[in-house]
Formats: sequence, C-alpha cells, structure tokens
Amino acid sequence: MAAEILDGKKHADGMIEEVRARVAEITSRGKRAPALAVVLVGDDPASQVYVRNKVTACSRTGISSIEHRLNAGATQGEINTLVDSLNADDSVDGILVQLPLPRHVDAKSVLLRISPAKDVDGLHPYNQGLLLQGAKGLRPCTPSAVMHMLKAHGVPMKGARAVVIGRSEIVGKPMAFMLLEEHATVTIAHSRTQDLPGLCRQADILVAAIGRPGMVEGSWIKPGAVVVDVGINEVTDELLAAKIMANEPKKLETLKTKGRVLCGDVRFGEALHTAGSITPVPGGVGPLTIAGLMMNTLFAQTPSLTL
Ligand code: NDP
Repeated sequence: MAAEILDGKKHADGMIEEVRARVAEITSRGKRAPALAVVLVGDDPASQVYVRNKVTACSRTGISSIEHRLNAGATQGEINTLVDSLNADDSVDGILVQLPLPRHVDAKSVLLRISPAKDVDGLHPYNQGLLLQGAKGLRPCTPSAVMHMLKAHGVPMKGARAVVIGRSEIVGKPMAFMLLEEHATVTIAHSRTQDLPGLCRQADILVAAIGRPGMVEGSWIKPGAVVVDVGINEVTDELLAAKIMANEPKKLETLKTKGRVLCGDVRFGEALHTAGSITPVPGGVGPLTIAGLMMNTLFAQTPSLTL
C-alpha cells in the first residue's frame, strides 16, 4: 500500500488561518497587530524569494511586516546598528535576519545581538537554552512546525524510535530535542555516523535534514515509518535525476522542460512503497516553516498565548 502523503501545504494553511484568527481577535480589542521586521542584506536571488514569501504570509495573517534592505557591502557596524534600533523599537515584535549574510559579516554575532524576546528564528543561545530545558520560548520555525503537523496527524511519539539525520542549529538539533520532549527515543545522525542505512531502518520516525538530493533510499526505511523530508535540493543533472526519481515521471518531465527540478533528501518514489506516511518536496516542510514563523511572531508579541 502506498504511504499517506503528509500535506504540508494544507497543514500550513490551517496554521496561517489560526494565526489570522488570533491576530483579528487581538486587533478587535484595540491592540496593534504583531509586527515582524525582516532584514535582507545584499541581493541573493534565493533570499529575495524567501523574504517575499515571508512578507506575503504576513499579509495573509494580518501581521505587519517591515522590510529593511541593506546593500551587499553593508558593514558589520551598519547591520549591528540596525539590529540595535529594531531591538529598541517597541512597535517591532519579531526580528528576522535573512541568512546567509555576506561573507565579510560575522553572522553569529549578528544573531547574538537580536533581543531573545524578538528572536523569531529561535537561534539565540537564550532561546536554545529554554528549548534544552523543555521550557516555553521562541523555537526554530521548521522543527516547531513539523511537530505541530505530527501532533495534528496523531503520530505516536511516546516511546517511538526517532532518527534525525542532520545536526544543524536551525533544524537537526532542535528537531531532536522537540522529539525527545515528546518522549521519543532519539538518535541524531550526521556525516560521521556509521551504518546510516541500518540506523534509519530502526526508525519509527525518520527526519532527513541533510541537503543531499535523494540520499535516503527506499530500502533504508522501516515499513510503516513516518518520514519527514526537510531537504530542499535543486537538481539539474539528468543522470542523477534518473537514479533518484526513477518512479517520479512528473518530476523527470519538469526537469526536461524547465532544466531543473526540486527534490528532497529522500527518494520519494521509492519511499512511498515502504513508509506509512511521508512529506513530499515541494509542498511538505517548506510551507510549514513560514507558517511556523507567523506563529513565532504572534508568540513574540503575546508570549502568554498557547498555540
Ligand atoms: P546544514 O548543512 O547546516 O546541515 C546538514 C547536516 O547534514 C549536517 O549536520 C551534516 O553533518 C549532515 N550530513 C551531510 N552529509 C551527510 C551524510 N553523507 N550523511 C549523514 N549526514 C550528513 O543544513 P540545514 O540543517 O540548514 O538544512 C538541511 C536541509 O534542509 C537543506 O536541504 C536545506 O535547504 C533544507 N531546509 C529546509 C527548510 C524548509 O523549510 N523545508 C528549512 C531549513 C533547511 P555534519 O554536521 O557532520 O557536517
């Protein structure tokens, strides 16, 4: 039997609607709408698309967004000054500095400068500490939204064996802590992990956050497992595509007509036959991340809310 598709887009729409309703309730009481400041440095095309999508999501929810664009040559001092002014501005609830920053800028120190109360990416050590303690706080958007979806789908986590491939600060590590918080038995795998296929085969919940197209093969997946594919990879190589998208004629067609196609870290066409449920790419975790950002911005304004 083919796996159930975990429709991230549909779930994200539900989250956006939930935020929209809360924002409408807040403003109907005469309070101002939550406000997100987005800082974009330089003209990286992918970053511009991400920022545009975030601003669009804000308009769907009623959250106000303020874009701050600096040119690619902006100095560390100029970026710091902007972050300081946003920290001090009471009309701003959330600050998002779009990554990557130009090479000459120390991104870590910029992220550290953002007030933890406005850190909607959940990357400040203060918020990371709260997560480690299992306390309420601003958490990275992607894993938060994935958890929201897994809970909504009634995925059993207590006592489940979870494997997270990837140990980044923004996805892998927080994902692992959130699964642990739900009482899963969690293993974090990375580039030095031995026998990764064998480890994956033990996972009731498998999260792939690697950034390598089609690395996880169908044979690595435990029958009935819940598979969350975080990876977003652009493939232009027809030989690679023929190998990792063998059972996905639509994607191969897209590659032929457009010269590129998006895929995840998991071989979706193979995984469909083994997994119990799986997120597609695109349309899985991507839309969830932006919905998570909306929830975080609302939470930054009103930390007493339970979403
Ligand atoms: P990073 O590059 O920061 O981390 C990748 C992780 O994968 C590292 O921990 C690395 O291990 C591990 N890894 C790399 N190669 C292997 C391998 N051969 N075997 C096992 N582990 C390996 O990436 P991110 O966490 O930022 O992102 C991961 C993917 O998710 C990317 O495709 C990114 O585009 C996507 N993404 C998608 C989002 C969405 O909204 N859907 C949001 C954020 C990210 P090591 O630490 O040992 O180097």
